[in-house]
Amino acid sequence: MSWTKTIGIIGGGQLGQMMAISAIYMGHKVIALDPAADCPASRVAEIIVADYDDVSALHQLAERCDVLTYEFENVDADALDAVVKPGQLPQGTDLLRISQNRIFEKNFLADKAQVTVAPFKLVTSSLDLENLDLSKDYVLKTSTGGYDGHGQKVIRGQEDLEEANRLANSTECVLEEFVDFDLEISVIVSGNGQDVTVFPVQENIHRNNILSKTIAPARISDELAQKAQAMAVQIAKKLDLSGTLCVEMFVAGDDILVNEIAPRPHNSGHYSIEACDFSQFDTHILGVLGLPLPSIRQHAPAVMLNVLGQHMEKAQAFVQENPSAHLHLYGKLEAKHNRKMGHVTLFADDAVEFGEGMEF
Ligand code: AMP
Repeated sequence: MSWTKTIGIIGGGQLGQMMAISAIYMGHKVIALDPAADCPASRVAEIIVADYDDVSALHQLAERCDVLTYEFENVDADALDAVVKPGQLPQGTDLLRISQNRIFEKNFLADKAQVTVAPFKLVTSSLDLENLDLSKDYVLKTSTGGYDGHGQKVIRGQEDLEEANRLANSTECVLEEFVDFDLEISVIVSGNGQDVTVFPVQENIHRNNILSKTIAPARISDELAQKAQAMAVQIAKKLDLSGTLCVEMFVAGDDILVNEIAPRPHNSGHYSIEACDFSQFDTHILGVLGLPLPSIRQHAPAVMLNVLGQHMEKAQAFVQENPSAHLHLYGKLEAKHNRKMGHVTLFADDAVEFGEGMEF
């Protein structure tokens, strides 16, 4: 068996770039497929320039690689099924289909994985919103295509129904009860098809629905952290997980509810590059190659701050003043508003120090 493989990544954004960096220092070659020749992964990998659903480009990638993986969930699962050889895509396409559709995802989480989720129901038109008990609040989410709060409408009363009805009539949706959460957390878990390894629990702070800051470990009790990790492991085992998965959750009192899953390394796990002995990208690569997975140790509490387009100057000034901060820039040429340009990871003796205020 050859130790070094050629790994094909569908998508050459920052996640593909960081996966490639892990793969390369383990000795592998990486080819990424991306519509942009100058995408972040182009700094470290060969790029096949094509749309993600270009079957002939996917075929070329499959021909040239031993193993395929993806950096985002909106990959055309049918196109992938048509080109991959048996065993070439260890993550499979079932997980893609589950995470592409909130209805499949909720049903999987509630019925198969048997973890707690917010009460939900399928909404196929505004008729399903009639007679809604408005003593409670809800979030209506499109079943496909939503991200970072897009395709969502919070319903707090009668005044929100007109817009909610419009959304419900435009596409299939899921109606969830609004969770009055104390904090949002996520857990990264990686699998190799047999075993799984789990990372510490992260606490996530969003601004304008975009992740702004992650604190790891999360400021929750050990009992809650263990419960969150156990839920992530339960989900991973139900999936016979290969590669890295992120499970996003809400903490509400003593309850933990799963919000959604992302079948790939996640922004909230970036701190693991410096703060853990193996990063979420390392375990992704080990996992998709079916190699043994290490148990994860975190060296020190850490905080990750996202650097969006509008933060470029602030972030650079910050690292000038804090030379022990780790600045990552993904090599994107244009610093557009709200575009994820990079992140900064810092250590602290105690992550509680990183309360409010420290954000770009
Ligand atoms: P999502 O697209 O499902 O990740 O949702 C984006 C954000 O909306 C989450 O990070 C939460 O802050 C918020 N959110 C989503 N679903 C709910 C819910 N059922 N209750 C309260 N907040 C929610």
